Amino acid sequence: MSKKPAKKAATKAVKTCSFGRAWVGKCGQPSTTANRCKDHRGLKCSSCGRAATSECGETQGPFVCGAPLCDRCEHALAPNGTNSGSKHIRKGAQKYKSWWNQNDDEKLQGKYLMLKRDLSGYDRVAALVGGEKGQEYLSARAEQRRRIAAELTLLEMEHPVLVGLSEEA
Ligand SMILES: [Zn+2]
Ligand SMILES: [Zn+2]
Ligand SMILES: [Zn+2]
Repeated sequence: MSKKPAKKAATKAVKTCSFGRAWVGKCGQPSTTANRCKDHRGLKCSSCGRAATSECGETQGPFVCGAPLCDRCEHALAPNGTNSGSKHIRKGAQKYKSWWNQNDDEKLQGKYLMLKRDLSGYDRVAALVGGEKGQEYLSARAEQRRRIAAELTLLEMEHPVLVGLSEEA
């Protein structure tokens, strides 16, 4: 008879981490406190700061977002209705519709706002880098920035209603 001997430790159930890994399911590593392993203990939701229960499973190309989230929050849609960007938001509080659900006006606004987002992205990086290096970063990308700005101007000329539209509004 080659029956496996009953595990002695059966009475002392091993607790495992219940944190939801993106595209994987429950983490399952041994947990010490509050059903969390050492990797997932104390993680805060990147949207609201409550205790995180899972990773964001939105994919951007080959990458998974992976930001820690609580049950009430989700990845924020960008103005063009894609999951571009790394913002997270309360469920039910999405500012923009999914791309497949946008009407022509919303698509136009989305295009305009995404261009603005791209343009301000350069300034944000430059500000982060700071000083002379920041200026170098901007001048190295003068051509791209000029092209985006020209596209914005063109859109504003064709659709004056867009002028002044911003993501903050
Ligand atoms: Zn874990
Ligand atoms: Zn949250
Ligand atoms: Zn996300």
